[in-house]
Amino acid sequence: MVLDIFIPENVKAVIHSLENAGFEAYIVGGCVRDSFMGRIPNDYDVCTNAKPDEVKAALSGFKTIDTGIKHGTVTVMSDNEPVEVTTYRIDGKYTNHRKPDSVEFTDQLTDDLSRRDFTINAMAYSDKTGVVDVFNGQKHLFNRKIRCVGEPEKRFEEDALRILRALRFASELEFVLDKDTDSAVHRCRKLLRDVSEERITAELNRLLLGENVYDVLMKYHDVIEVFIPEITPCVGFNQQSRYHLYDVWEHTAMSVSQAKKDLTIRLAMLLHDISKPDCFKLDDNGQGHFYEHEQLGAEVAEKILRRLKYPNSVIEDVVTLIRYHYVTPVDDERVIKRLMSKIGSPAFHRLMEVQKADSRAKQPFCMERVPLIDKINFKAYEIEKRGDCISLKDLAVNGNDIMELGYSGKAVGVVLEELLQAVISEEIPNDRDALISMAKKLGEKAEI
Ligand code: ATP
Ligand code: MG
Repeated sequence: MVLDIFIPENVKAVIHSLENAGFEAYIVGGCVRDSFMGRIPNDYDVCTNAKPDEVKAALSGFKTIDTGIKHGTVTVMSDNEPVEVTTYRIDGKYTNHRKPDSVEFTDQLTDDLSRRDFTINAMAYSDKTGVVDVFNGQKHLFNRKIRCVGEPEKRFEEDALRILRALRFASELEFVLDKDTDSAVHRCRKLLRDVSEERITAELNRLLLGENVYDVLMKYHDVIEVFIPEITPCVGFNQQSRYHLYDVWEHTAMSVSQAKKDLTIRLAMLLHDISKPDCFKLDDNGQGHFYEHEQLGAEVAEKILRRLKYPNSVIEDVVTLIRYHYVTPVDDERVIKRLMSKIGSPAFHRLMEVQKADSRAKQPFCMERVPLIDKINFKAYEIEKRGDCISLKDLAVNGNDIMELGYSGKAVGVVLEELLQAVISEEIPNDRDALISMAKKLGEKAEI
């Protein structure tokens, strides 16, 4: 069967230049897989039998960057877009279950394909030759299977990140793991301890944003437990609550899958109930309660995210969402504004998404909250649009005005905060004279 795969012109130009210089050149890996699936590839990688210096000579008409020349990768700027060109290679011996100690170049495409992780990622294509598929990648694509190239256990021992990549692809592509690959994932999971946090989180993030995240979190919690052992007590933990249909972990997995595809929100869902088992109390009626689990959970989540080396901004945002995830939504503008002033508008909107996902993962009657949350979120957008006063910068007075009244140091901030809350509660208007007069009174009452 002759099959045409779309290759962008700028990538074709690179392939043709290599071919004209007498070399082989193919698009390879994710872009071939995605093309077969009708997905738009993230990027196009090219592989070739030309050695890096030969690549540069053959592509002298292009600007090239020595990205990973030792590993055989040259980045070629074609039509202002980067295209990675990598020489066929065989990976050397692996130590510590991470990267190969060395790489060796080869002139056989099949050798290069055999070092790749999964059969669906081990196909190459060129207009000249058509599809090169020596490991049945097309068949496994058709059957929606993730299957290691070669013996799964050996491949996971070489590079344990592949364990998590298997789950990431299962979640993103809505595939299942082939039987042998599946059992090797469970058996080899602890090798992930040797993988750097940065590589783990890159795959975890994509897993969380995948379509099939519920199934993956349910089936492979033991893998996630290797780098987030704090989830272990959640798995199978019976909530004994009339609001809940699922144990803590299943509720967690369900809430992640029900949440908007935004990394901060999905990380918050993953960790929002992490401290529930530690906070569990049974009342006299046999109902389970989890007082303060959101406070403790925020602290535990912060430790986890720091350990996994997430950026500070992500940690801050996720921790805020967890700390406030249990606040009862109230349809009252003053209450809405107070929370907006406390956590800021962007966090408020994300919090509404968190609360919706949380509600959708409980007993069906809890979903009644969803329209209410949407209504509240809509009001928050209106408040923003109107430009209502919800933060110190919106107040009609500033720190200098307060200092002129004789306040100094910390008292300035305290007075401003009191004024903001008074405006939000509609006790006084956001008007300079009214604010100054209230600030004076606060001093007289010696409250500050
Ligand atoms: P996407 O671009 O959607 O993330 P991808 O399959 O292109 O998917 P990349 O991480 O970009 O994934 O890797 C490109 C290709 O390199 C893969 O398709 C696979 O053939 C190979 N590959 C990547 N990481 C590994 C690994 N750890 N072990 C073996 N092969 C790998
Ligand atoms: Mg890619």
